[in-house]
Amino acid sequence: MNRRYRKTIIAGNWKMNKTLSETRAFADELKPLLGKPKWCEVVLCVPYVNIPAAVRLFKENRVAIGAENCHFESHGAYTGEVSVEMLKELGVKYVIIGHSERRQYYNETDFTVNKKVHAALEGGLYPIVCVGESLEQRELGVTMDLISYQVKAALAGVPADKMRHVVIAYEPLWAIGTGKTATAEQAGEVCEAIRAVIRKLYGARVARSVTIQYGGSMNAKNAAELLAQPDVDGGLIGGAALKAPDFVEIVNAANQE
Ligand code: PEP
Repeated sequence: MNRRYRKTIIAGNWKMNKTLSETRAFADELKPLLGKPKWCEVVLCVPYVNIPAAVRLFKENRVAIGAENCHFESHGAYTGEVSVEMLKELGVKYVIIGHSERRQYYNETDFTVNKKVHAALEGGLYPIVCVGESLEQRELGVTMDLISYQVKAALAGVPADKMRHVVIAYEPLWAIGTGKTATAEQAGEVCEAIRAVIRKLYGARVARSVTIQYGGSMNAKNAAELLAQPDVDGGLIGGAALKAPDFVEIVNAANQE
């Protein structure tokens, strides 16, 4: 973390978990434990149907609400899809774009990721752009090439003045939902490389202002070590964001002056 130049952001990704009543129960448990963290931004990315309740329930604790996806068009004949404008009107601040599960199961490509990044920024949302390599790619030694390509493709055409709204999440596929975490060194190395790519594209001032998260089985036990890496500015958290005490412990690891 380096709070001098950029925000630390701890974001939960609930995926397809929690009904409305479970969302209310989570809020009841989380709110007294969480308080109002001062040194980091806390985000919960929840299923679309829970967004209005989540915005209301977490407001007093300053938890920002995110969506887990969006469409790149503003409206039209796209059955089942949700636009940036619809999310914005509900009070959503962040949107996850290009999560590996969407790339794997729903035909998300680097091209659609780029279109969604543009749509989010134009509509006033903060995109959390996910990039990451598979185990095979890591073993082939192409991690940095692949990540560099994914970052460049996601950001193609994004002007420098919009970059302060962009968050990048480095999520190695082999660590997501597997209980296998990248070592702090592996996470730090790739996050550093991502910042170097942004530096080449936009210069040093922009690069040091961008929040780069690590995601992949981050939990209460390993969060502090991962966050101690200078280029790891937070976490995107799946499983551990479903249990209020675990999520709060991760926030506490990040909420240091
Ligand atoms: C994620 O879904 O982005 C994620 C990192 O999940 P988990 O923490 O469960 O590995």
